[in-house]
Amino acid sequence: MEVKRVVKEAREAFESGVTRSYSWRRSQLRALKAILLEKEADIFNALKLDLGKHRIEAYRDELGLLIKSVDYALKNLKKWMAPKKVDVPLVCFPATGEIVAEPLGVVLIFSSWNFPIGLSFEPLVGAIAAGNAVVLKPSELAPASSAFLATNLPKYLDNSVKVVEGASHIGEQLLEHKWDKIFFTGSSRVGRIIMTAAAKHLTPVTLELGGKCPAIIDTLSRARDIEVTINRVAGAKWGPCSGQACIAIDYLLVEEQFAPLLVDLLKAKIKKTYKDPENSARIVHKQHFQRLSNFLNDSAVAASVVYGGSFNAESLLIEPTILLNPPLDSEIMREEIFGPLLPVITLKKIEDSIEFLKVRPKPLVIYAFTVDEKLKRRVIEETSSGSITFNDAMLQFAVDSLPFGGTGESGFGKYHGKFSFDQFSHGKAILRRSFLIELSCRYPPWNEWKLQF
Ligand code: NAD
Repeated sequence: MEVKRVVKEAREAFESGVTRSYSWRRSQLRALKAILLEKEADIFNALKLDLGKHRIEAYRDELGLLIKSVDYALKNLKKWMAPKKVDVPLVCFPATGEIVAEPLGVVLIFSSWNFPIGLSFEPLVGAIAAGNAVVLKPSELAPASSAFLATNLPKYLDNSVKVVEGASHIGEQLLEHKWDKIFFTGSSRVGRIIMTAAAKHLTPVTLELGGKCPAIIDTLSRARDIEVTINRVAGAKWGPCSGQACIAIDYLLVEEQFAPLLVDLLKAKIKKTYKDPENSARIVHKQHFQRLSNFLNDSAVAASVVYGGSFNAESLLIEPTILLNPPLDSEIMREEIFGPLLPVITLKKIEDSIEFLKVRPKPLVIYAFTVDEKLKRRVIEETSSGSITFNDAMLQFAVDSLPFGGTGESGFGKYHGKFSFDQFSHGKAILRRSFLIELSCRYPPWNEWKLQF
């Protein structure tokens, strides 16, 4: 579909006022849910074709989460839309104040390929709940999912929600237009392009970017917590899309003395659970596969591999791989990995992890497996990241009452649940006064007496 025409139609749909009503928002959210329920098999199929995702993983990470998000929005929509009364100072008496959530207008959503259905629907839920017209640009690197969205969204939703398929040149064309909001999920490289284009029209942006999410491992001296720690760490590295997730664990920090035990336990876990390619998503694209294999071109990095390291260029599968202390200035420790390679970095004392994190870019999430309350407090107070999860990983994504988003290099703007609604709304301040009391001291002529007020 021609970009110019799509933008024009979306603008006309918004200007018609149709998207503002409660009934429109509710009907469109219900339509989103109908797609998820009625087209389940097609969604599984698209995710299998694009990423080799097992349908159970697809349900856990995309479909199931989305049904929950739509239900949550439907349940709370009326409350979110209601004006919020606020206190006003005595000097305004008599007056009332309220905040009214106003739709932003026509919003442009870019999604990425790793959760191509989830990361398209999740912001869409917020944009629709907030009463906007939407143009969605899915990633060309997940073509089956992109085609699914382009076919089904127009069938189920009305003319106010549109899908534009295509590669970066289509993204560039879309960015030439004026939007009321751009919501972008993707790399920081393209995030910078988005922000530059948005600046031209003073368009607000949300950037959901990536980064290197560390996990501090401090539970290996506690026999009863070791197994759960390993399950959760392995699940957050080799489980979701084979590490191709913005909130996947990127690398581990552990005390020197526990490193051999940690590596042994992870090796055993891989052999037990993550060896079968049937359970693994493949690397999305040759280019990303190449990028990951290039990490090992550095001989010092290759020498640090203590498990795995085999790459199948035909099937685009990479074996779960563990690296022990690759050089900190190597590419694998400077760039977001976004794949099944797991560096383990040893420290003299686990408390050194605080300094380690403080001097690096702010990640999307910091994970810490510890029962030490003092360490937890230090992680909260002395480091900076989009979020922190203690003693688990990835699960924070499913908590609608917590904001999801980055800070610094990992992006800005929060969504999920009510935060999504706010992200796509303008909180308009309304002050209502009456004509009852009029204080002349507000106006000139000025004299010392008026200072008393
Ligand atoms: P990407 O930046 O390459 O692409 C994202 C989107 O931007 C795609 O739709 C793409 O077509 C479009 N695009 C690419 N170049 C463009 C250009 N020049 N002009 C306009 N549009 C353009 O990202 P990706 O490879 O799809 O995703 C991987 C990155 O996304 C990783 O860094 C990952 O951490 C991040 N990510 C973040 C989150 C989050 O929620 N924070 C979630 C998933 C992925």
